This record gives sequence, C-alpha cells and structure tokens, in this order.
Amino acid sequence: MAKVLVLGAGVIGVSSAYFLARAGHEVAVIDRQRGPGLETSYANGGHVAASHAMPWANPTVPLQLLRWLGREDAPLVFHLNADAAMWAWGLRFLANCAPWRARANIRRVLPLALHSRAVLKELTAKTGLEYDQQSRGILHIFRDDRELSHGAERATVMSEMGCEISVLDGAGCVALEPALAAARDRIVGGVHSPGDISGDAYKFTARLAEVCAEMGVVFRLGTPIWRISKMAGRVTGVMTERGMFTADHYVVALGSYSPLYLRPLGIRIPVYPAKGYSVTLPVTSEAKAPTMAITDDTHKLVYSRLGDRLRVAGTAEFDRYNSDIDPVRADAVLRGAMALFPEAGEEAEAQFWAGLRPLTPDGAPVIGATPISNLFLNTGHGTLGWTLACGSGQVIADIIDGQTPEVDIEGLGMERF
Ligand SMILES: Cc1cc2nc3c(=O)[nH]c(=O)nc-3n(C[C@H](O)[C@H](O)[C@H](O)COP(=O)(O)OP(=O)(O)OC[C@H]3O[C@@H](n4cnc5c(N)ncnc54)[C@H](O)[C@@H]3O)c2cc1C
Repeated sequence: MAKVLVLGAGVIGVSSAYFLARAGHEVAVIDRQRGPGLETSYANGGHVAASHAMPWANPTVPLQLLRWLGREDAPLVFHLNADAAMWAWGLRFLANCAPWRARANIRRVLPLALHSRAVLKELTAKTGLEYDQQSRGILHIFRDDRELSHGAERATVMSEMGCEISVLDGAGCVALEPALAAARDRIVGGVHSPGDISGDAYKFTARLAEVCAEMGVVFRLGTPIWRISKMAGRVTGVMTERGMFTADHYVVALGSYSPLYLRPLGIRIPVYPAKGYSVTLPVTSEAKAPTMAITDDTHKLVYSRLGDRLRVAGTAEFDRYNSDIDPVRADAVLRGAMALFPEAGEEAEAQFWAGLRPLTPDGAPVIGATPISNLFLNTGHGTLGWTLACGSGQVIADIIDGQTPEVDIEGLGMERF
C-alpha cells in the first residue's frame, strides 16, 4: 500500500481516487474549490458517448472554420488576443485534421471510451449511485444529406472498431425520440448508438467523492495548489496555501490547469482550455422535451435529459483561461435548443454556465507515467472527460500499481508529443 496524492477533484481526479482506494492505497485529494466537481465537471453536456470518440480535429473542420470566421455565435471561435501557446496548439490541431491522423486518433480514444462506459455501468451497479442517468443510447441527428453521409461514414468506421451504431432516416429518428416531431421537416436522418448513456457528471462526481470518503479517502478542499516541488528526479511534495503535502506517488488531474503546474518541472503537454457553454432548463412539457440524449451535429450542440431538467451544451471558444459567460454565445445555445425543442423548458429559469475543456490537439487524453518517477498524469480529456473518467481512473490506478491495464492504452502517454 502506498500513499497517493491526487491533484484535482474533478470527475477525473475523483474517479482516480476511487480506483486507487479500491486497490488498497491511502489516498488524499487536493482541490481549491469548496467541493468536488465544481469546475469543468460541473454542468457539462452529460453524454457518456463512445460514439463521440471522433476527435474535433477531423477532415471536415478546416472548411467549417472558414465558414464560421467572424461570426460571434459560431460553434467555434478563436480570439485574436490569444497567446502564443494557443497558436502553437492550433497548428497542431490543424495537422490532426488530416484523414489518416483523424482515423488514428479515433483508434487511440475509442477503446478507452468503450471500456470506460462499461466500467461506469459496472461501478453504478456496484455502488447504486444515482446521477440522473438514462441508458436509451445517444441519437445524432443531421439536417442535410451531406452531413448524414459523413455521419454514416463515421458510423461505419466506429462500428468496425467495436462501437455499435445504426443509421436511421428522419422518420426513424422521430420514432426513437417523439419530441423531435416539431423539427421533423429539418431532420434528414441520424445515427443511434444504443450502448451510450447520459447523466449528470457533477452529481456523479459529488456522490462518488462521498463513496471515496467512506473508503477512507481524505479530501483537502479549499486548498489552492501553488507548486509541485521536485528534487533528484522525484516529486518531494505539493506546496499549497495550507502548507506542504507529501505522498509516495502524485497524480496530476488539474484539468485545463495541468500544464501550468507541470511546466516548471520541465514537462510540457499541449493541453489548452476550450471554453464551452451549457444551459439548463426546468422541463415544462413532457411531450416536447426529449427523454433520450441527442447530438445535433449541424449546430454542434448536445442535449441530455437530467431528471426534470433539460441540459444543452456546446460551442468552443479559445480565449485563454477566461471562463466568463459571453451573453451572445450563451444565447446562441439557448436559441438552438428552443428551435429544436420549442416549449420544452422554462426559458426564464435557464441557468447558464461556462467551463474550460482541457483539450489536446489530437483529442486524446494524456494518461500515464512521466520522466519524474513518482509523478503520473491523468488529464487532457477535452470534450470527453465524463465519458472517459471511469476508464481513465482505473487505468491510472493500474499503472501506479505496475499492472497492465485491461484496455489498450497505446498512444495515450505524454511521449506522443
Ligand atoms: C460545455 C461543455 C460540455 C461538455 N460535455 C461533455 C459531454 O457531454 N461528455 C463528456 O464526456 N465530456 C464533456 N465535456 C468535457 C468534460 O466536462 C471535461 O473533460 C471534464 O470535466 C474534465 O474533468 P477534469 O477532472 O479533468 O477537470 P475539472 O473538472 O476542471 O477538474 C480539475 C480540478 O482541478 C482543480 N484545480 C485546478 N487548479 C488548481 C489549483 N491550482 N489548486 C487546487 N485545485 C486546482 C479545479 O478546482 C478542478 O476541480 C464538456 C465540457 C464542456 C465545457
């Protein structure tokens, strides 16, 4: 049994702590917030979606970027005031849009996504955790034939790699989700991944943290980290506002902030914050609100039914670490939702939120060992942190224990950069 300190209590840090504790380690978690899951894991899209394992960097993106240029409400915006790190990151992102790289990147992420989904289902059954989960799969809808044919091509690639996906026509989509009836004339078809699930990542994180605490994990909340100290090739401790904390092993799960604390140690990983928005509305009409998870590929929005709430999330904005809510972009998300599901929810009670996705240029997380012998990374989960959380937590516990993970993690380490 070793002492392990996990830095960060988002969905990734808490999942790591759970699997480390389950393996018998003495675990502590440090976070600056007053509770777990209060930053990027707070109000995300809710999809646990192996079918989203297609990275953002893919061959359709460069043309879309040109079309969206200058539009304040575009799904993706680069701010010209951004820093050199963003431009360097952006060039790597564009390089990953080449078709062969995009395919290799799906291959990198999909096995972990499928595994993680299965581990989440198993963990849910074992612990009885409730997080407004639903398991009717995820339906991706398309509004023109070209998009549908891209979607169907992707579905074929993913199916070949083990993710069950079927292609539907417009009527098939409405049969699966009757709340889409109002938009029937705008939907030409869709793809459905029946094994995907959805749920509230924050509720999951907060409740899993309670399970962890019952297993003996110590949470040091309200504890901002200042720096990680190193001597003779080993981490010697983590200096915080509340003093120094030490352990045998350290796991960095600081989301978008991870690179800032790794750089002084000589470790550079291209994780950059990609701001996204969500809007959560109380459902006012059972008939008009979807009950299953939906992805609207045209508007790059995802929908999750979380109990009596409807969550819609999306957009990406590259603006350093600024997590302020831009009313134009937030309103674009709400308008998109109201156009697809009119009268589904109470607009006047909409809750707006923005979070910073810790995104790598290839869309895959950074999991594994570092050149510093007792320092490990579990970060950079970008658009898929909730999807990949349980698998990544289990994998990092295995790596620290010197065990071979159950899932292929080829190409997920920091050495690929
Ligand atoms: C709009 C939006 C929609 C999304 N939708 C989905 C989705 O549908 N499905 C999906 O799989 N993923 C989705 N994601 C992505 C997912 O939310 C993230 O990948 C995930 O939350 C990242 O988790 P994390 O634990 O790495 O980061 P975080 O949740 O940000 O956790 C990092 C923790 O580190 C702490 N920390 C940082 N710096 C310090 C410091 N100096 N001292 C102490 N503590 C510190 C923070 O307080 C935080 O709690 C979405 C993201 C956004 C923004």
